[in-house]
Amino acid sequence: MAFIEVKNLSYAYGGEGDSPVYALNNLSFEIEKGEYVAILGHNGSGKSTFAKLLTMVIDDYDYLSGNIYVDGVDILSEDISEDEIFELRKRVGMVFQNPDNQLVATVVEEDVAFGPENLGIERSEIRRRVDEALQTVGMTKYAKHEPHRLSGGQKQRVAIAGIIAMMPECMIFDESTAMLDPMGRREVISTVEKLNRESGITTINITHYMDEAARADRIIVFNNGSVILKGTPKEVFAQSEIMRAAGLDLPQCIDLAEKLKKNGVALKGDITNPYQCAEAVAAALKDK
Ligand code: ADP
Ligand code: MG
Repeated sequence: MAFIEVKNLSYAYGGEGDSPVYALNNLSFEIEKGEYVAILGHNGSGKSTFAKLLTMVIDDYDYLSGNIYVDGVDILSEDISEDEIFELRKRVGMVFQNPDNQLVATVVEEDVAFGPENLGIERSEIRRRVDEALQTVGMTKYAKHEPHRLSGGQKQRVAIAGIIAMMPECMIFDESTAMLDPMGRREVISTVEKLNRESGITTINITHYMDEAARADRIIVFNNGSVILKGTPKEVFAQSEIMRAAGLDLPQCIDLAEKLKKNGVALKGDITNPYQCAEAVAAALKDK
């Protein structure tokens, strides 16, 4: 069984007396341990609802069917115990969109310590984890700083350090780079990739940015609460008509390759990122 297994998951928000608002419609997919998966989908397609169910932030299960298994445990089961919920919350961490809403303390290192303190971890171990987490996100020299004086990218890295300090096996980022400037976004994405590649943390990145998605191992595309595409970036971006019909862009280099093709220049090979695109363009020029 995969590390995360989503099976026929449907969910609606129950309005008081109103009719339910359907958010997820019969989703099924799997995420393997250590994988880096990007989730794409236009606004309202159910991405955050999925993230909240996975991290057990939602607990109104009036209109829920199907399952999410994490390492074989059915986390949405009615029989799940408080102890199991506590354990699962440690295993899957979530980073939200707005860094300001995630920072709670007045000093960076206290903020990072907040999560492990809540887990009842011993002081010396907390110290070790805070130092290591700040190091991982490249924020060691800001340990004594006030979070509110940091840039957006730095704040988001502190928020990530706060989750890493709880040592999760899986992290889900819900548009965590959406409010950042290009530099902040680069800082955060390289931190996310480092966590995945070097620490082996299973990573789910919900994003609007195609260049981020292009770097994932696999992409899952949501549309109106359903999964409409899944596969490697190359496979998913090859379905340009389905992507566009779902209101999604393609990475710029794929867009460029399509336009070149219409102008009689067909690029060869893989062109999901700018480096590959540059090579393919150079090769096409030499052939002329
Ligand atoms: P996404 O993250 O892809 O933008 P969401 O999961 O936030 O999508 O939303 C999916 C659907 O659920 C939308 O129709 C949205 O309006 C609805 N929805 C989201 N949160 C709530 C809520 N708390 N109460 C009622 N409906 C909601
Ligand atoms: Mg959302």
